[in-house]
Amino acid sequence: MTLLFLQVLLSIIASTPQTDWLTPYEKSKGHETATYQECIAYYQKLDEAYDEVKLVPYGLTDAGKPLHLVVVNLDKDFDPVAIRQKNKRILLVQNGIHPGEPEGIDASMMLVRDFMQKKTQRAALQNIVLLIIPVYNVGGALNRNTATRTNQNGPASYGFRGNARNLDLNRDYIKADSRNARTFTQIFQEWQPDIFLDNHTSNGADYQHVMTLIATQKDKLNSYLSRYLTQNLLPSLQAAMTKQKFPMAPYVDSKGKTPDTGLIGFLDSPRYSSGYTTLFNTIGFITETHMLKPFDQRVKATYAFMEILLKTINQEASLLASARAQAKQDVLDQKNFFLNWVLDTTQVSQIPFRGYTAKYKASEVSGQSRLYYDRKAPYVKNIPYYNTFKPTTSVTKPRAYVVPQAWGEVITRLQLNNVQLQSLPHDTMLAAEIYYITDYKTGQRPYEGHYLHNSVTVRREKQEVRFFKGDYLVYLNQPANRYLVETLEPQGLDSFFNWGFFDSILQQKEYFSDYVFEDLAAALLQKYPQLRQEFEAWKKNNPEQAQSAQAQLDFIYRHSPHYEPSHLRYPIARIL
Ligand SMILES: [Zn+2]
Repeated sequence: MTLLFLQVLLSIIASTPQTDWLTPYEKSKGHETATYQECIAYYQKLDEAYDEVKLVPYGLTDAGKPLHLVVVNLDKDFDPVAIRQKNKRILLVQNGIHPGEPEGIDASMMLVRDFMQKKTQRAALQNIVLLIIPVYNVGGALNRNTATRTNQNGPASYGFRGNARNLDLNRDYIKADSRNARTFTQIFQEWQPDIFLDNHTSNGADYQHVMTLIATQKDKLNSYLSRYLTQNLLPSLQAAMTKQKFPMAPYVDSKGKTPDTGLIGFLDSPRYSSGYTTLFNTIGFITETHMLKPFDQRVKATYAFMEILLKTINQEASLLASARAQAKQDVLDQKNFFLNWVLDTTQVSQIPFRGYTAKYKASEVSGQSRLYYDRKAPYVKNIPYYNTFKPTTSVTKPRAYVVPQAWGEVITRLQLNNVQLQSLPHDTMLAAEIYYITDYKTGQRPYEGHYLHNSVTVRREKQEVRFFKGDYLVYLNQPANRYLVETLEPQGLDSFFNWGFFDSILQQKEYFSDYVFEDLAAALLQKYPQLRQEFEAWKKNNPEQAQSAQAQLDFIYRHSPHYEPSHLRYPIARIL
């Protein structure tokens, strides 16, 4: 009986096929990238095979399919609240925000498998919980094609940059138009990762480097984190990547036409992934592999970077933890915040760069002189690197903002970002500082679904303001302080004002009929000598406009009680 049982058991084992752990990328010998369905199915298989891996469907994306998160934790614990209490560092990797740049999608699948199957690699996860968004732009990934990455060297087919509603998700982190961004925010706020990595492929110049890297702009980053990033983390990553034969350059944004003129650091404002994570003291990295290198080299470089990043964080876990704790405290205590930054061209360092010599020849298309990079003339030399940014606009945080409930789209976004809001218990008057928008410029064409404003100037006025029961008080004593200031101060580069959330205040609702207002205007000048003085001064200073009877009436109207107080009045009040 026992022998028979053993025989049956052996025959079952023999007939059970070995699980095929090769990824579509590996099966194609490095020429193809996994489809969305293949990718999710692969993680499903990993989830079923290993207790340390869990595939979690989060909220929806614009394509109607869920955004998934893969959680890898050697402790087999997948509850973010419980994990955040433990002394583990959290790394969030995001792939496929631009699905035509899919290295991270394939590299991550192999990485999780290898971490589970190779004991030596596993050790790098001891102090870390690894989170992976397998494919962020699901709609783009489903819109597969073979041509839109015009200058890219493989894979054979890939997804499209725009998502299901043709948004570039890497501009959507503040305005959060897409369901993808809103679900990302939920994941980000639940897990509060220490480090965020967003995997991409570059466009632009030709050079020898397979891997270029954007790190969170160091001057915008909290100083404790910035010190850790520039003195510890970044040098460790660079040294280890060089050892792996993937020496990294910063992301190539040339000062002149070609890289040998120098590189400029990337100013990642909050609309971008790493600019958004900076607001919450999460160090962001963006890998940009070089489009002209074969796909398999780009995948290998991305794999190497992720493995090195994990190993480095695992080793430096306590350094990172203390830098982050200090940064969090610092943001709570911080009084002044910067809203805009410009490149400081007086600050320049030298960095080694492996380039190809830029040359010119006659174009076969236009006959004019055209640029090309001569791969037979490689060079390794130091080039200038401009990576210092200085703040141009600063603001002192108020004690609190009051956000009237009328601005629901803004309130939804604050809530998504874990902002603590206190609802006013009854109608009330509050002493507040109010902004009037005195000037702004607007782009002439839509940008990511909005007519984006810029160059905002404001005038401040102290007022007693009426608020209603259910309006929201937002105190500036919370981890989201920096997010609040950069989104609610209208002068912030990526403020909700600049993204057009308050456009209705820019339009005047009432006006006057000239022939009726004539008599009233004359009476007003009679009644208010101060107004007459201002009127005369204005005419003197604006002789051209003063020629117009309409302009004269308009001036008097705007300086009279008839002019509506809500025109150009920014509705979010500052309680000082
Ligand atoms: Zn990209």
